[in-house]
Amino acid sequence: MPLSVDVAVIGAGVNGAVAAWLLGRAGLRVAVVDVNALPGGLAGGRVSHGAPGGRYAYALGLVPREVWRLLGVDPDSLYLPDPSWVELGADGSPVLRWWSSPGRLRVELREAGLEGVWGLLLDSSRLLRCLAEEGMYYTPCPPSRSEAATGLPRGCPQGILGTPTRRVLASSAPRRAWDLLIYPSMLDSDGFALAYYLQNMNIWAQPPGGSMMWLSRLLLRLLRGAGVYLVQGRADAILVEHGRAVGVALRDGRTVRARAVLYAASLPALPRLGGVDRGVPEADLRALESLAERKSWVTRVDFYTRSPPRPPREEGWRGVPIYVYWPGGGGEYTYPGLIADPGRGGLYLVQASGSPVGITPPGVVEEGIAAVEEHGPGSQDRCCMNPTGHPDHIPMIDPFLYDTRPLPGWGDYTTPLPGLYHGSASSYPGGEVNMVAGINAAIRILLDMGHVEPWRLLGPLAAYARRGMERCRRGRPP
Ligand SMILES: Cc1cc2nc3c(=O)[nH]c(=O)nc-3n(C[C@H](O)[C@H](O)[C@H](O)COP(=O)(O)OP(=O)(O)OC[C@H]3O[C@@H](n4cnc5c(N)ncnc54)[C@H](O)[C@@H]3O)c2cc1C
Repeated sequence: MPLSVDVAVIGAGVNGAVAAWLLGRAGLRVAVVDVNALPGGLAGGRVSHGAPGGRYAYALGLVPREVWRLLGVDPDSLYLPDPSWVELGADGSPVLRWWSSPGRLRVELREAGLEGVWGLLLDSSRLLRCLAEEGMYYTPCPPSRSEAATGLPRGCPQGILGTPTRRVLASSAPRRAWDLLIYPSMLDSDGFALAYYLQNMNIWAQPPGGSMMWLSRLLLRLLRGAGVYLVQGRADAILVEHGRAVGVALRDGRTVRARAVLYAASLPALPRLGGVDRGVPEADLRALESLAERKSWVTRVDFYTRSPPRPPREEGWRGVPIYVYWPGGGGEYTYPGLIADPGRGGLYLVQASGSPVGITPPGVVEEGIAAVEEHGPGSQDRCCMNPTGHPDHIPMIDPFLYDTRPLPGWGDYTTPLPGLYHGSASSYPGGEVNMVAGINAAIRILLDMGHVEPWRLLGPLAAYARRGMERCRRGRPP
């Protein structure tokens, strides 16, 4: 007997898990299918060498505070390293520290001659709030570029939207600081992506305990609490009958029948799901295929060391982890600290992201390195079925922003195949760990299934989501 549910969710990453949880709380029967036993996807926890660590993501500062509250988490329980970030000068000495207290951060920036960056950070936070208040963030009907650029009330920093990032930065930060603020590949893209990355000053917030196992456990608890079925296995095909998605076929022969299917994983991997092409135009499939060819520049290397790493620091530094931005190559280094009992041969973990291959992390003695694990795009594909290896599944650049993320006509979490929805880092508002795409996709499904007041599920987000639904009424009727 196949499992029969209202909604089958493919992918228990942060977006799929939160969507499944919301749909379960709305009273629907929900099954979530994932190749991994633990939820979290790219942001999930893993254990290696006996040590709990993260699969890929390691900072949780892009999750809006209201979203944490919705999940029952006190946002202040997250750990904010202080200093959060150390930039190293050419001689290897620390030259800039970003403190967790906004007051200290402002002083740091002023002393470093980066006063304009402070204004940019404030504008970015304000902009995201304006988008939320105007129903353009928590919404199943994302705005078009021109709506976003012109639809905000006076007092909102509109100039960022619709303006290339390069121009936004030129008016607020000296050239030497640009690499600290955004990835070079995004310089010519819309300032939306810049604001998205800078929205939160506590961007480097860490999970309590310093390991992403915390996030996986949280999601697992939520899913179980909402009565969601967890199905471990690989979804190989989306079942299509009479031109509608009606379930999921797993590689091992099991099937999950459903009234709707939410694909909450990397959209460039969608064409690999056999059967779906019967309802999706060939041109769209080709567009997604070509995205799969754009491999990521992000590689992650885990260093396991026998002796405690000694990253650059200064007096008063109060613990781990610490982030180091290494100009001129390398990447960001995280020091989650002691991960196993050294008395019993335990190891310390240092995680590096960027392009750190062949570089020994600052503060690590080369002879003390016990093991090195390198994770490139290929390993992301094996772990989490993310064939691009890109943190955001597809880049956060034009034309994949606003209601064209991932493709024109797909921007409202639906696809051309009735009954098939999407909601992941590939969907609006975009990648990283913030869970908003999953929330919006769940609302879209609830609306289409006839729920009249889905915003009521959203507690601290309810007012925003209600405005977001009004947007839908003004445009396409739900
Ligand atoms: C190296 C690296 C560092 C990063 N650092 C950060 C960071 O510090 N902070 C931050 O905010 N973001 C970071 N990110 C980005 C962030 O991790 C992702 O954007 C986010 O986790 C994506 O979540 P998601 O739920 O949309 O998708 P995913 O995490 O990709 O989840 C999709 C899930 O679907 C499953 N799946 C896919 N296809 C199938 C299938 N056919 N059958 C069954 N299961 C399937 C996968 O196993 C996976 O669990 C980083 C990413 C990388 C790669």
